Amino acid sequence: MTQTAQPVLFDADSIARQVAKLGVQISKDCKESSLLTVVVVLKGAFIFAADLIRCLKIPHTVEFVKVRSYSGAKSTGVHSLDLDLNCELSGRDVLLVEDIVDTGQTLGFLHKHIMKAQPRSLKVAAFLVRKESPATLRQQVNYQAFEIADEFAVGYGLDFDQLYRGNRDLVAYDVASR
Ligand code: 5GP
Ligand code: MG
Repeated sequence: MTQTAQPVLFDADSIARQVAKLGVQISKDCKESSLLTVVVVLKGAFIFAADLIRCLKIPHTVEFVKVRSYSGAKSTGVHSLDLDLNCELSGRDVLLVEDIVDTGQTLGFLHKHIMKAQPRSLKVAAFLVRKESPATLRQQVNYQAFEIADEFAVGYGLDFDQLYRGNRDLVAYDVASR
């Protein structure tokens, strides 16, 4: 990052360890699955997903969706698909990979969308979950790497206005200082 140092929430090493653990757990839980379909939510989850799938010990395919919902640090509350799935999900085991579950609106929208395709199962892996998110929402997340409080997190794929995705550490971005 070019401006003043931002507080590190989770550094690259602890992220790598935590993601590897999730990979082991998912591989164990999904070992009966003949073929797992990993659905990556662009853009924020692309680095998490890239690391996570390389820790999977089970056969899987990778697909992408892109949801338009945010501008800067504020949610617009409006969702539309910029990129839809172009694959058969009926009867398949699906793992949806998200960067962060904040209000849960994006997850809710995608959950409904994927369930329409009648997968055999749908599980959710989120790199981050906001601590204050409602319990009902958190129950929808089967695998999470970390929890964060009310910071605006950037790095490891997460952006502020499309910047900082390449940061290896996850840092708290001071949105007000911008
Ligand atoms: P939700 O629909 O759960 O409110 O929001 C999910 C989306 O909001 C995430 O996929 C992400 O793009 C954005 N978002 C929410 N909180 C943060 C944050 O702390 N940092 C960044 N970079 N994006 C966030
Ligand atoms: Mg974003």
